[in-house]
Amino acid sequence: MTDRPVIMWFRNDLRIQDNPALAHACAAQLPVLAVYCLEEKDDHPLGGASRWWLHHSLVSLQKSLSALKIKLALRKGIANDIISSLIKQTNASSIVWNRRYYKPDIDRDSALKKHLEDNDISVKTFNANLIREPWEVKTGSGGPYKVFTPFWKSIRKIGPARNNLSQLPKKIVALTKCPPSDRLEDWKLLPAKPDWADAFPDHWQAGEENAHAFLHDFLDGPADNYDDDRNIPGMDGTSRLSPHLAFGEISPLQIWQSTQIRVDAGKLNASQADKFLSQIIWRDFSCNLLYYFPNLPKAPLKEKFAHFPWQDDQAALRAWQKGKTGYPIVDAGMRQLWATGWMHNRVRMIVASFLIKHLRIRWQEGAAWFWDTLVDADVANNAASWQWVAGSGADASPYFRIFNPFGQGEKFDPQGDYVRQWVPELTRLPNKFIHQPWTAPQEILKTANIELGKSYPHPIVDHKRAREKALDAYQQIKGQ
Ligand code: FAD
Repeated sequence: MTDRPVIMWFRNDLRIQDNPALAHACAAQLPVLAVYCLEEKDDHPLGGASRWWLHHSLVSLQKSLSALKIKLALRKGIANDIISSLIKQTNASSIVWNRRYYKPDIDRDSALKKHLEDNDISVKTFNANLIREPWEVKTGSGGPYKVFTPFWKSIRKIGPARNNLSQLPKKIVALTKCPPSDRLEDWKLLPAKPDWADAFPDHWQAGEENAHAFLHDFLDGPADNYDDDRNIPGMDGTSRLSPHLAFGEISPLQIWQSTQIRVDAGKLNASQADKFLSQIIWRDFSCNLLYYFPNLPKAPLKEKFAHFPWQDDQAALRAWQKGKTGYPIVDAGMRQLWATGWMHNRVRMIVASFLIKHLRIRWQEGAAWFWDTLVDADVANNAASWQWVAGSGADASPYFRIFNPFGQGEKFDPQGDYVRQWVPELTRLPNKFIHQPWTAPQEILKTANIELGKSYPHPIVDHKRAREKALDAYQQIKGQ
C-alpha cells in the first residue's frame, strides 16, 4: 500500500463530524494531512469580527483533529499556490474539499482542480454546507427559483440531498512526516489593544462542540415557541447558530435531523419546527441566488435601482454605525452589533431599512459595515438580505414598504427591554416614551436624567419627512 497522503483542505467547514470531505479522506486509509489557508484575495477578505471567530474556531478544530491524530497545517497566502506546493512537498496523491458557491471561489477551485487533475492528482469535492445545492432545486421550467416559498416547498418535498450524516472510520492513519505550519498567533486575527471585541467571549464560544450545545439548548427550549418568539429581540427566541453555520462548525443536515428526531419523538411541535427549518432553508435560498446571480453582493438585481438617487452623507452613515441616530431601536441594534458581533434578525431588518430609506444611503455601505462587524458575516446571506430590504433583490420586500422605526420598536419591544439593554442612557424613561424619547415632556426627560442632544441624540431625520423623501426618490426610478 502507498503511503502518499490525502490532503483535506478545510475552508468554511471547520468541523470533524458530518464533514463529507474529511470522512472521505479518512476512509481511504491513507495518512491524512489537513490544511487551512488564510486566503489572500480581493473579493470579500474576512472582516474584523470574522477574524476573531476564525481564530477561536481554528483553535477548536486543531484540538479535535489532534485527538484523531490528524495534523492541521496553517498557511497564509494565495490558496491555490499553497495547495499546489503542499502537494509537491508531501507527494500527496489526492485532495478533497467541500464545495463553495460564490463565483470567484468557484473559479479558483475549478482552476485548481483542473491543474491538479492534469497532473494526475485525484480531486474529490462534496456538499457539506447546504441541504440542497443550487442545481438540485429548479422550477418547473428548469430555471432557478427567485421566490422563497416555492423554493422551500420544493425542498420540503424532496428532502435533504443526503439521508445520513457522514461518519469517520474507527481507524485513521496518522501522517508521520508533517510539513511546517504557521503559528496561529502569528496571523494576528485577534484585535490589538484596545480590544473592541473584549465582550465577545461573554456571548460566544466558537467551535463544533459549542455549536451543538447551542443547538440542543435551543431545541430543548425556545424552539417550541419559535414562530412567536423569533421576532422579539429582547428574548432569546432564536437559535443563535448563525456564526457556527457561517464557519461550518455544524452542518445544516445535523440541524435538520436533530430537529426532525425531536418532532418524531413528540418532543417538539411540528409546525414550530417547520418554521425553524424554513429559516435554515433561507440559507440555501440565499446561496441559490448568489450562485445564479454572482453580482448579488455588488449590484442590485433589479436594474432600475442602479439609478436610485442615493445620498452620500458620511456623517449620517457614521451616526448609524455608532448607534447614534436618535431612534432607540435602531441605536440598540447597532450597539448590539458592535458589542457582540451579532444582531437580532428583526432589528437587522429595521436598521437596514432605516439606512436605505430614511437616510437613503446605498445598501452596499450597510452590507460592508455588517461584513466587518458580524461574526456570522456570510456573502450570500448578507447580500441577499440587504437586497431584500432595499427592494432591489429577488423576492424582495417592496421599496415603498418603509418600516416606521418607533412603530416597529413598540410592536416588537413593547416593554423596551431590548432598548434598555443596549441604550442604557434611556433606562429610566417610561415605556410610553422609550421608543420616541423626543415626545416625552421635559419634566419626564429630566426625571429620567436625559437631555436630548446631549445625553441622547435628537432624531437624525424626521420620520414623516424622511419617508416622503424616500417615496419621492423611488418615484424617480419607478417607471424605469
Ligand atoms: P435563527 O432564527 O435561529 O435561524 C437559524 C438559521 O437560519 C440562522 O442561523 C441562519 O443561518 C439561517 N437564517 C435565518 N434567517 C435567515 C435569513 N433571513 N436569511 C438567510 N439565512 C437565515 N445571516 C447570516 O448568517 N449572515 C449574514 O451576513 C446576514 N446578514 C443579514 C443582513 C441583513 C440586513 C438581514 C436583514 C439579515 C441578515 N442575516 C444574515 C439573516 C439573519 O438575520 C441571521 O441569519 C439570523 O439573525 C441569525 O440568528 P439565529 O442564528 O438566531 O437565527
